[in-house]
Amino acid sequence: MKFDKCPCGSGNVFKDCCQSIVAGEQKAKTAEQLMRSRYTAYVLKDVNYLVETTHRESRTSDLAKSIRKWMKQVEWLKLHVVATEGGSELDEFGHVEFIAEYIGNTGPGRHHECSVFEKVDETWFYVGEENE
Ligand SMILES: [Zn+2]
Repeated sequence: MKFDKCPCGSGNVFKDCCQSIVAGEQKAKTAEQLMRSRYTAYVLKDVNYLVETTHRESRTSDLAKSIRKWMKQVEWLKLHVVATEGGSELDEFGHVEFIAEYIGNTGPGRHHECSVFEKVDETWFYVGEENE
């Protein structure tokens, strides 16, 4: 798959945005960057990246399987980052609220999530969806 602009919707050129992060050449500096790169990995169908960027404690044995299932069911169209809290280069934790538009078997839909991220040894990880 070739992209000019990054699939994450940042407006930046793909190679200057999520490409090198998903490829493992660069680390996400902020929780938002990791969140965007994970969205891009869904678009690219990069299951390994999604597993590897999931926090150790959230990495269930069937994680890869459930990610693959999601990928088969939906095609991601667009990402909107609604809000971020923490998650900067100086933080250990971050929250990112986003809406991801997709088209699924039953038509178009929106996935609205507030994600929690934690930095472990200078690397950001996706912990999971925030509990209300
Ligand atoms: Zn991007």
